[in-house]
This record gives sequence, structure tokens and C-alpha cells, in this order.
Amino acid sequence: MAELFYDDDADLSIIQGRKVAVLGYGSQGHAHALSLRDSGVDVRVGLHEGSSSKAKAEEQGLRVVTPAEAAAEADVIMILVPDPIQAEVYEQSVKDNLKDGDALFFGHGFNIRFGFIQPPANVDVCMVAPKGPGHLVRRQFEEGRGVPCIAAVEQDATGKAFELALSYAKGIGGTRAGVIKTTFTEETETDLFGEQAVLCGGASALVKAGFETLVEAGYQPEIAYFECLHELKLIVDLMYEGGLSKMRWSVSETAEWGDYVTGPRVITDQTKAEMKKVLGEIQDGTFAKNWMAEYKAGLPKYNEYKKADADHTLETTGKELRKLMSWVDDEA
Ligand code: NDP
Ligand code: MG
Ligand code: MG
Repeated sequence: MAELFYDDDADLSIIQGRKVAVLGYGSQGHAHALSLRDSGVDVRVGLHEGSSSKAKAEEQGLRVVTPAEAAAEADVIMILVPDPIQAEVYEQSVKDNLKDGDALFFGHGFNIRFGFIQPPANVDVCMVAPKGPGHLVRRQFEEGRGVPCIAAVEQDATGKAFELALSYAKGIGGTRAGVIKTTFTEETETDLFGEQAVLCGGASALVKAGFETLVEAGYQPEIAYFECLHELKLIVDLMYEGGLSKMRWSVSETAEWGDYVTGPRVITDQTKAEMKKVLGEIQDGTFAKNWMAEYKAGLPKYNEYKKADADHTLETTGKELRKLMSWVDDEA
């Protein structure tokens, strides 16, 4: 059984007694920095020269310094810059500013799990990873709620690293919803697998294949869009509220029957075998190595895939239809 921790299990005064540097002010960075500040924590934001996030952080009342200055001032350093550049930021700005007993924090275990960052033995290495996008993390915090987090300790130099991680999680509202204890390995591998096989990769490939099947058979793209993409949200909302059972309770008996007999014809044993292969490539570091190489090469394939999907009829059709639904927020 997973170990769960709530507000009463966490002592906010631990993180309130430390100096925190949040490096990066994007999706996660802004949520962590603002919520920690609102929780009475001493926070500074570390951003590179010319960062497009700087003005926003300052406008929101935070003190912005360079990543190296932030790391030097602080004794808890949370790295929330994009994963592929974390090792570079660590080498250039963090490494030489680590002191005995400092804590290095991450929101995702990628660089530690695959060895791109190798911290010295005299610092704590912790993870607090909210299981939701940063903008929701901040909004839930402001509403007195929280996004569930997972927390892990890779290296416990002080013997108190997990208490510190829980305290940090409390500062961003995580313990209001629940914090699950994990390891860097479990978090990194499951996170990469989930986003690739199910959440992002799996879901978009399923939607695209369904849409193309209908359009190629001569049906109107607008109808295909509603059927294969728009309605997915309504189905997923039901699953989120009450699992597969609630979704099946709500749809028609015909839809439920089709679910049982057709689902396994679309997602087959072969698909599952491929998922196992995908997981294997995550576990043995192949995915991480290839992604870092793509990033260092200037993202040629990434940009090619992005462009091809942006021009897909699914996207161009959806763009027009969403304009007519004022309640659907289409801000990128
Ligand atoms: P974003 O891309 O949203 O933000 C990155 C931030 O880092 C920006 O403020 C960017 O500034 C800044 N930055 C870029 N280069 C540097 C640099 N050299 N020095 C200092 N700051 C820099 O990142 P995310 O919030 O998506 O991801 C951060 C971490 O959180 C990752 O480890 C990710 O895996 C993890 N995570 C993200 C989730 C999410 O909701 N997105 C969910 C859970 C975990 P500028 O604007 O100028 O480029
Ligand atoms: Mg992820
Ligand atoms: Mg229908």
C-alpha cells in the first residue's frame, strides 16, 4: 500500500526556516514560488539574463536574481527549468554554490534517474512533483485546495530530507490533497510511460486515427471532430469522477456493449506488447538518450512533428468549431 501524507503529517515551520531558490518561472516555477511565498517562506527566483519570465515574476512581487546568485543565497534549491537544460544550469550555476546540508529539489526525477546530474554526497536530494499542470497547482492553492503531489528522497545527507520534502509540499498546498511517497526511479519511469503511452501519445494517436477513419470514409470532418475529440472530455470527466464504472453507468447500453466488444479490437495484445517495449526503452535509458540528443541537435524532428500535426485537418477543423463555443477556452 502506498504511504500517504496530509497536512497534519507535515511541519510547515521546517521550510519556513530555510531560504528557498526556485530556478525557473514557468508552469511549475511560478506556482511553487508564489505559493511558498504565500505560505511565509523566504523565496527568491533564479532566472537567466534576458528571461521572458522575469518581468512577470517581479510584477507578482518576487525578487529575481541570477540562478547562481539564487543558489548561493539559498539552502534549498528547487530546479524548475526545462528538463533537457537542467544539467547545464546545474553545472554552471548550482554545483559550486552547494554547501554542506543544503537541499537540491526537483519537480521530476529525469536528470537524477538517468545520471545527467550527479550531486555531491553532502546535500539532500529530494523531489516534490505535483501531479497536475503548474497553473492548476497555483489556482488550487489560492482556492484553499491543493493538487496531489508525490515526494521522494534520493539522498538523505541530513537524515531529515523527507520531513523537509513534506514541509515543502505543504507550502504549495500538496498535503491538502495528499502526498504519496515514491522514489526518483518510480516517479521518472511511470511519468514518462504515462505521458507517452496513455495521456499524450496514446490519447492523441487514438483521437487522430478515429478522426481519420471517419473522414476517409466520407463523413464530414466537423462531425468526426465532435465524435472523436470533443466528446472525449465528457467521457474522461466521468472516468475521473467515478472510474470506468461511472462512465459506463452514464453512457447508453449500446455504447457500453460497444466498449466491451470493440475496445480490445482497437487496443490489442500487440498494442500492449508495444507498450512493454516502450517501458523497456524508458527503463534502459534509450528514450532519455535519444531525447537529449534531439534537444542538443536543435529539435529538428520535434519541430517537424509539431508542424505536421498543427496542419492536420483535425486541428484546423477544431479551431473553427471552437470559435463558436464561447465556453471552450482556446488560449494556448
Ligand atoms: P517551463 O518550460 O514552463 O518553464 C521553464 C522556466 O525556466 C521558464 O521560466 C524559463 O524562462 C526558465 N529558464 C529557461 N532557461 C533557464 C536558465 N538557463 N536559467 C534559469 N531559468 C531558465 O517548465 P515546466 O514548469 O513545465 O517544467 C519545470 C520542471 O517541472 C520540469 O522538471 C518538469 O518535468 C516538471 N514538471 C512540470 C509539470 C508541468 O505542469 N509543466 C508537471 C510536473 C512536473 P523563459 O521563459 O525565459 O524561457
Ligand atoms: Mg512528465
Ligand atoms: Mg455517440
